[in-house]
Amino acid sequence: MGICHGLSARPRPAMITASPVARITSPSSPTDWRQLWREAVTDAAELLALLGLQHLADRLPAADAGFRVRVPRGFVARMRHGDARDPLLLQVLPQLAELDEVPGFVTDAVGDMAAREARGLLHKYHGRALLIASGSCAINCRYCFRRHFPYGEEIAAAGQWQQALEHLRRDGSISELILSGGDPLSLATSKLEELGRGLAELPQVIRLRIHSRLPVVLPERIDRSFLNWFAALPLQKVVVLHANHANELDAGVDAACAHLREAGATVLNQSVLLRGVNDDADTLTDLSERLFAAGVLPYYLHQLDRVHGTAHFEVDDARALKLVEALRARLPGYLVPRLVREVGGDSSKRPL
Ligand SMILES: *Cc1c(COP(=O)(O)O)cnc(C)c1O
Ligand code: SF4
Repeated sequence: MGICHGLSARPRPAMITASPVARITSPSSPTDWRQLWREAVTDAAELLALLGLQHLADRLPAADAGFRVRVPRGFVARMRHGDARDPLLLQVLPQLAELDEVPGFVTDAVGDMAAREARGLLHKYHGRALLIASGSCAINCRYCFRRHFPYGEEIAAAGQWQQALEHLRRDGSISELILSGGDPLSLATSKLEELGRGLAELPQVIRLRIHSRLPVVLPERIDRSFLNWFAALPLQKVVVLHANHANELDAGVDAACAHLREAGATVLNQSVLLRGVNDDADTLTDLSERLFAAGVLPYYLHQLDRVHGTAHFEVDDARALKLVEALRARLPGYLVPRLVREVGGDSSKRPL
């Protein structure tokens, strides 16, 4: 489980800290997040047409190379029209290269199955356990391990959380529960409330961490009812976003991040180093600066999990290290993400 489970106009700080509540949609409004979710683009040819790139449709792999296209329209709106190399587009558009068999790129790249301790619960590292709360995502990222994960059997929420909570009760060493997926914020808020009630009975769990790409790709998800639940939760809170490029952040994302912080969360970001998307020092510098402007600190920069169908995104370690050195030479230390790789059997993410 590497991830979760990316320069537009840069708003001035004054615009970012003002976070009018009116921007948050209420569940009954026409822009309800579930409706936006359902309206996502799921057809690669339509995606290309929306961007004026219909002439590229004959280069698409058949049947989306086995991993369906999904991208919220609000995220499409942040892509540059007419640019086939747009860094947001490249994250979601199927490529013929995904069909290549590349030695070393496999289907369970990080040993998730070996770390399974209860339905949907992965316990690899001391003091924290990761719960695969949902198999759904609002966006399907082409580089993701998720394209091969057997979610059918491994979604904790489907079992009313019971197995996972029972495991946490018996193992007193776990003080932080991490909700991951898929995307845990794809669950209805009522489902999260159920989990919150279960956690309240486990005094050793002091912290809830949520790994989600939704505040970035569908910020409308961070709505009033979610925020009411989250703010009232009597736990320490961490939200780890997933953005790979500064263009992914817009005013809606700024508002979502501000609301998460107001609800008491520490907000961090993890990125994946992706060839053609963010593998240069200027792009990564812009990303760190843009995150900070939204009140978010960079956490991890992941080396790609070596998952079948993703080899064309890989950046070799020597170049990855050079990039992070360049960041260190330009940015304050707190804006330099930790470059890590996930290695099955390790007791933490492995720093490079
Ligand atoms: C990545 C991961 C974590 C979180 O690791 P941190 O270094 O605390 O961010 C926890 N559990 C599993 C199974 C993971 O894959
Ligand atoms: S949001 Fe993207 S990267 Fe995260 S789990 Fe879903 S497909 Fe993977």
